[in-house]
Amino acid sequence: MKNMGSCLCKKITFEVFKFQGPIGHCHCKMCQKFHGAAFSTFAETKVSDLHWLSGQVFLKSYRAENETVRAFCACCGSSLLFESKHNRVEGTIEIALAAFDSIEPVHADAHIYTESKADWYKISDTLTQFGQYRR
Ligand SMILES: [Zn+2]
Ligand SMILES: [Zn+2]
Repeated sequence: MKNMGSCLCKKITFEVFKFQGPIGHCHCKMCQKFHGAAFSTFAETKVSDLHWLSGQVFLKSYRAENETVRAFCACCGSSLLFESKHNRVEGTIEIALAAFDSIEPVHADAHIYTESKADWYKISDTLTQFGQYRR
């Protein structure tokens, strides 16, 4: 199964050769705002394992005060990428799993930043919960 993703308007398309590291549902306020949703789910990949197939010119990024960078499609607004200082040191990047049209079997194993979870969302699964970043 190839990991192929795209934004809502399909101008941006990409392929990821390999994911790495654990996957968490992030309930931080910035992810909530960025996704327009209760939480985000990003998977990490090496930058060299992310291959742009089309539309890279439409990628627009927002750098927050805490030095995190989030990228989205300038045409349709789809949330696509997350990058922290840690990612830049490691040569990795995080990609929104919701943007994938086909994907190998991957599973989130935890909820992170649950201290800022939206009041209107109830976590009803048994995954591990971390108040802030996973330890
Ligand atoms: Zn788009
Ligand atoms: Zn977050």
